[in-house]
Amino acid sequence: MTDPTAALDALKRYFGYESFRPGQTAVVNALLGGRDVLAVMPTGAGKSVCYQIPAVLLPGVTVVISPLISLMQDQVDALNDIGLPAAFVNGTQAPDEQSMVLAQAAAGRVKLLYVAPERLETQRFRNFASSTPISLVAVDEAHCVSQWGQDFRSSYLSIGEFIASLPRRPIVGAFTATATEKVRYDVVNLLGLRSPQVTVTGFDRPNLYFDVIMMEGKRKAAWIADYIAAHAQESGIVYCSTRKETEALADTLNRAVPAKLGGATGGVASAGRLAVAYHGGMSADVRAAAQRDFVTDRVQVVVATNAFGMGIDKSNVRYVIHHNMPESIEAYYQEAGRAGRDGEPSRCTLLWNESDIVTRRRLLDNDNENERMTPEEQEIARRNRRRLLDGMIGYCRTTECLHRYMTRYFGQEDGPVAGANDGVSASGKPVKCGACANCERTFTTIDVSAVARAISQCVHDVDQRVGSGKIVRILRGSQAQDLAWLNPQSMPTFGMLKDVPEARIRDVLSQMATDGFLYIDAGRLPIVKFGRRAAETVAPGFRYEIKRVDRKTDRSSDGI
Ligand code: ADP
Ligand code: ZN
Repeated sequence: MTDPTAALDALKRYFGYESFRPGQTAVVNALLGGRDVLAVMPTGAGKSVCYQIPAVLLPGVTVVISPLISLMQDQVDALNDIGLPAAFVNGTQAPDEQSMVLAQAAAGRVKLLYVAPERLETQRFRNFASSTPISLVAVDEAHCVSQWGQDFRSSYLSIGEFIASLPRRPIVGAFTATATEKVRYDVVNLLGLRSPQVTVTGFDRPNLYFDVIMMEGKRKAAWIADYIAAHAQESGIVYCSTRKETEALADTLNRAVPAKLGGATGGVASAGRLAVAYHGGMSADVRAAAQRDFVTDRVQVVVATNAFGMGIDKSNVRYVIHHNMPESIEAYYQEAGRAGRDGEPSRCTLLWNESDIVTRRRLLDNDNENERMTPEEQEIARRNRRRLLDGMIGYCRTTECLHRYMTRYFGQEDGPVAGANDGVSASGKPVKCGACANCERTFTTIDVSAVARAISQCVHDVDQRVGSGKIVRILRGSQAQDLAWLNPQSMPTFGMLKDVPEARIRDVLSQMATDGFLYIDAGRLPIVKFGRRAAETVAPGFRYEIKRVDRKTDRSSDGI
């Protein structure tokens, strides 16, 4: 065990930072104490420092496994600049050059050695690794090892075996921004982590105000124009789901917003445009110009597809508006998170409606992923993406604090830090976070306690053996033949909700899954089971509400 102040000293000396961020300390201490770590932190939270500081203090070499060959040169240059001896080996180098780097590392002249996973399988690297003391293996983007994630790389599967082949087992740290439970499980098992300390941190962004507004498609443009007109001096990003939409909406905004402002667009007028479109179908020049104009405040708004954002450094984005529902919470978090990098209050608004769900589901079912995958692998990937989408739909529908929903989704159990509370008062009742529309109750609700109770009883009646479609049909008193084996007529809940529309029952059921009353066991045929909060539904005084969908805000704007 290293002297506890040594890590902080190294942080100050090499990086010039005064203190570790929350979460970094735990990871650094665990690694220095010889314990494996799984660290889940969003991009930008400071994962690199978590293995770079131990690398300085541990006696041997630290091998950093990273899939991003294109970034290695920059990462290594940056480390050498601050006096940390680092180098990389990857397939872009000639064999001689690789051998030279490895010889340097073997001679103790390199503390951090960056490698792509493909290198681990080469004889040259194996020889090096079996004769040089390796203290730590840091696996960056560790989710790439899992087929449940979106960036599976088969080369990552060799990492576990590589670690096991070393003469002396190093400490292993796995780092990722991907949160889902299946991915974490794979990371731990496929990399062979030994009772790792799991640290999840940095997902809450207290300066962001989250809002979700259900709105008819044809009202969205007017709403966005109003918003921009009311925030005429601020920079913002509007995300759309298609290239065509970005261009159409940028045109609309360029006509509508100046009209609302009586022709005056403040400092933006000089550039001649208020908004620019940005998507992957535009030429690199046009895209670079759009990006430059936005970063230098010559245009106020970028209307973009998800192609916009990677590597864009603009800290004073005051709002991010989503014109449609993204495919997952991960995607939403990443895009919305581009607001307020400077820590100032900023707003993230998601506009959505039921047709987004239909569109997303269709895209997902038609997308055949990657030709190299077997049909079975494609089915697994599809099922996984369906689950990610369910998380997103849950965010749109939930009545709980949106910060809390997000941090819980990412597994950061301590909840939101927005405001001065932890989301729960001493009495156990949720308290307002002060930074989301749900806590301010900008929506109206429908009391669905009776429907929720009936669903829960029905899950009990069928012994947690069937999917949501059958549950809905039993509750509606369906005579369908495919239910006969369950003998539904004998069940107390048969026909109990015959007067409730099917769509309502489905909405309540999916919301109950989101809120932890039910649990959808996502096999080939998803089965509805009881969730950790199931018992609450039979407690006296159980009350359950869902958001009313035809919100007042639907009618708040005139058409353009
Ligand atoms: P990640 O790998 O999680 O995306 P990085 O390691 O690149 O994040 O860190 C993101 C930024 O935060 C970098 O500019 C980094 O220098 C900075 N940073 C990391 N740790 C600290 C700290 N303890 N104090 C201040 N800045 C930090
Ligand atoms: Zn809240």
